[in-house]
Order: sequence, then structure tokens, then C-alpha cells
Amino acid sequence: MRITVVGGGVIGLLTAIECVRTAGVEQVDLVDAGPIPSPSATSNDRLRVVRALHRGEPALTTAAAASHDGWLDVERLVGTRFYHPTGALTAMSPENASAELAVLTAAGAKAWALSPLDLAKWYPKVHFPEGSAGVLEATAGVVLADHALVAMARWLGAQPRVRLHPHRQAVAVCEVDGTGVIRFADGGTQTADKIVVATGPWSRELLAGEVGSDLTLYRQSVLSYRPPTGRRSWSDMPAVLGLGPDADAWFMPTVPLSDAPMRLSAASACRPVEAMTDRVTPDQCRQHLIDVFSQLLQGFDPAAVVGSTDGFYLSERTRGGPLLAAYGAGTVWAFAACGGMSFKFAPQIAKAIADRAVGASPRPTGLDSIDRPRQLAAVGEE
Ligand SMILES: Cc1cc2nc3c(=O)[nH]c(=O)nc-3n(C[C@H](O)[C@H](O)[C@H](O)COP(=O)(O)OP(=O)(O)OC[C@H]3O[C@@H](n4cnc5c(N)ncnc54)[C@H](O)[C@@H]3O)c2cc1C
Repeated sequence: MRITVVGGGVIGLLTAIECVRTAGVEQVDLVDAGPIPSPSATSNDRLRVVRALHRGEPALTTAAAASHDGWLDVERLVGTRFYHPTGALTAMSPENASAELAVLTAAGAKAWALSPLDLAKWYPKVHFPEGSAGVLEATAGVVLADHALVAMARWLGAQPRVRLHPHRQAVAVCEVDGTGVIRFADGGTQTADKIVVATGPWSRELLAGEVGSDLTLYRQSVLSYRPPTGRRSWSDMPAVLGLGPDADAWFMPTVPLSDAPMRLSAASACRPVEAMTDRVTPDQCRQHLIDVFSQLLQGFDPAAVVGSTDGFYLSERTRGGPLLAAYGAGTVWAFAACGGMSFKFAPQIAKAIADRAVGASPRPTGLDSIDRPRQLAAVGEE
């Protein structure tokens, strides 16, 4: 069987890895419009958080509890360290903390509830909401995402049954007489027994109308912050979420042995947009985040904001998360929307997509939209 994966972000890279590890797969081709990995991929950022807790959503929390081990497995396979189990702390009321801790523990995550006094004592540099308690997840952390993508691409490049095709932009994907066909912007074509499309926020352009029109594009601004030198390091911190009056602000800590700055953002800096334009953070969003974090981090210095960037992701309009779709009898599979949380789930999602592509019984992810993909009519040639 020959499988072609279109898109070399975290989902495409890991799906290609899972395919080549499967018996019976003779060849895996991975194509990307840019280099592999591409600097413009949503995944190709400095840090991504891996954590189990999804407040008020026990099923999602249970599914996410497997992400920690999933990333440790990927590290072992590709032989590079990029996952740092810094932990993740979510602020919330004391009552909610007990309930969420019970869900996390039942899901197999290692976690503790912290009282308002614990928070004040252990994390004096963070201004938590008045009376706030918290849940600290130990089986959580941050992935140095750009390092991870490079390591995965290197591993794939060393496999004799894998061919990497950077700088090949697909303009159409279809099925002709049971064979998958990809047409490229350079006029070339490629055929494969199975095709997996994992083109992140560009999916709307490549996929047929029925899916494309059911996706919402989001744009999120994030600040890069290097805490002023001479103050106690922030590198012993977990990722912290649930900050601010609306409990929607979060930051990722600095990571030992990495030059990645802290990353600061809030749901209020994420908005639906019509199109992917540039990645330059508008002044008002940058200032909004500076105002938010001035209230949240002790000694916050706006001059220590060393950069900002905007990223994009697509979400399924109705359920607001990722979306997997099968075209026809399953010659073409599309991870049509990644949602704002697919990086952490990527090891599980990639296994499930690869299983479906090779015709194996799919390993469940616990994510409804992946375990019950949308079925669409086959796409033929125009
Ligand atoms: C600001 C921000 C913060 C986030 N934080 C987190 C987090 O902390 N934890 C978490 O779990 N998730 C997080 N996410 C979500 C996560 O980053 C994404 O869900 C994930 O990276 C999507 O990966 P992907 O492989 O689907 O897409 P991408 O990484 O975008 O990869 C798509 C690839 O397809 C290629 N491509 C596109 N069109 C074509 C074409 N026509 N032909 C060939 N190649 C093509 C692109 O060049 C690109 O390389 C965040 C997202 C944003 C924007």
C-alpha cells in the first residue's frame, strides 16, 4: 500500500510516522507547500501545552489524560528531548477544584488540589483571582513544538520507505477509479492508494465545499515575554491557566535549557476571522494582552515583551473542535479542522487516522469527532 500525506504539521508528520510503522505499508509520501517542517505551519511555534484538564468536560479530560504518555512515546521513538513535564496549574474555585480533581484522578492523571493559601505560598509571583484555589497536574507540560517537528521530520527522512516532498502545493485531491490523485500547483500529479489531508488552517482551500463551509477560522495573538533578568527565574513554574477576571488568561513558563520565552495569551485575544492574512499582532491586541498581564504577573515589565505573533486554526462550527472526514469509501481522509487543542492530542489523532488509512481497526481517541468521522461523498475530478 502507498500512502500520501498532504501537510507536514504535527498531524501530518505523526500520521506519516504511524503509517510507516504499520506492516503492509510499502511507501509513505509526505508533501508540503513549504519546507518540511514549514515555518508557517500552526504547529511550528515555540511552545504548546499538553494537559488533561478540560473543565466541566469529563470525556475530554479522560481523552486528554493519554496525551502525556503519547508525547513521551514520540520522544522515545525519534530519540530527541522536546517534551518538558513542567506540570499545568489551573485556577478555579475551591469547590470546582475538588470536583475536577476527582475527574482527573479517575482519568489516571496525577494531580493535586491546591488551596488559596497553597497558591499564595508556592506561586507568589502570580496574582490569582481572589479566593481562588487550583488544580496542579503533574502529568502535563510543554512541548518545544518547533524542535519536535524538526526531530519528527528528521526521523521520517531517515526511513527508507518514506519520501519527503517539500515545496509542493496541492491544489486538488480526488479519487479516480478507487485511486487517490493529488494535483499540484506546479502542474504535476501524484497517485496513491490512500491520501490523508492534514493541511491545518488551509483545509478550507483544499477540501470540497461541504466541509469547507462548516469550519470557522480563528486568529489568536500571543505575547513572547522574557522576564527581566535579576529576578527569580520563572523556569520552575508550571503552565498556568484560568487567570484574570474571566479566568481565560494563561501563560507557558520558560523551559530549562531552552531559549524559548514565556508565552502569554487569553481567550479574549482569540477571534473568528474570514481569512488568513499576515501573522502580525494588531497593536490593540498586543496592548490588550499587556494590560491583562500587567495585572497578573508580579513585576510585569512591558519592555520585556520581546515579540508577539498571531496563529490560526480552524474549528468545526457546531462542536467547536477538530474534525475528521472520510470521502467515499475511504480512499481520501481529511483532518479538516484542528481546533485549538490538537497539538497535545496529535499522537492519538495520528494513530487513529493512520489506522483508518491502512484499513486497520482504529484505536479510539476518546474524541467524538475523530472516533466518529464525518462521511462524505467521494470527490471525483472536476
Ligand atoms: C496561538 C495558538 C496556540 C495554540 N496552543 C495550543 C496548545 O497549547 N496545545 C494544543 O494542544 N494545541 C494548541 N493549538 C492548536 C494546535 O497548534 C493545532 O491544533 C495544531 O498545531 C494543528 O496542526 P496541523 O498539523 O493540523 O496543522 P499545521 O501545523 O498548520 O500544518 C499544516 C501543514 O499543511 C501545509 N499545507 C497547507 N496547505 C497545503 C497544500 N495545499 N499543499 C501542501 N501542503 C499544505 C502547511 O504548509 C503546513 O505545514 C494552538 C493554536 C494556536 C493558533
